[in-house]
Amino acid sequence: MGQFYGTRGPNPKPIRERMLALTKIGTDNECWLWRGHRIKRGGYGQISVKVNGRRTVRRAHKVAWELAHNTPVPAGLVIRHTCDVTNCVNPRHLILGTQVENLADMRAKGRGSPPPDLSGTKHPLSKLTPQKIKQARAWKAEGLTYTDIGKRLGVSRQCVSGAVRGLTYKRSTEATKCLKPIRF
Ligand SMILES: [Zn+2]
Repeated sequence: MGQFYGTRGPNPKPIRERMLALTKIGTDNECWLWRGHRIKRGGYGQISVKVNGRRTVRRAHKVAWELAHNTPVPAGLVIRHTCDVTNCVNPRHLILGTQVENLADMRAKGRGSPPPDLSGTKHPLSKLTPQKIKQARAWKAEGLTYTDIGKRLGVSRQCVSGAVRGLTYKRSTEATKCLKPIRF
């Protein structure tokens, strides 16, 4: 990933190393909380990087997604949290989306509400078994909305859409593949 980010300081470290040092890594399904600087508005983590020789500040979750997928975020798209925890940088909780989807989410949930407790088994991603994902895809094919499917399965719309589209879960019915960790 050196092609996207430079290093800084008297003892420059690769971006991946700096990210790991500033992240409280948990289990695959847990939120990995950012311990570095956070933007006041929204609470997103941020990290300073050098791009093409110029120092710039980037959002930590965006960098995490790019490192995990080894590609820059495509122009016009944003990185969304399936967990709604703004300072989470677990690549499994990060999906590509549009700004419109992001704003619709914020409106639906209401700004300023405290983040839900999503630790361990309380996390929505841990609720979707391969069978449920299969069922969700079948319902989606029948024309149900992500919201409806989410209500039926007891998970959020974001959780369902990520799983159905295979962004948060691999297109697989095997649990082992579903739980394949994504690291940055
Ligand atoms: Zn998370």
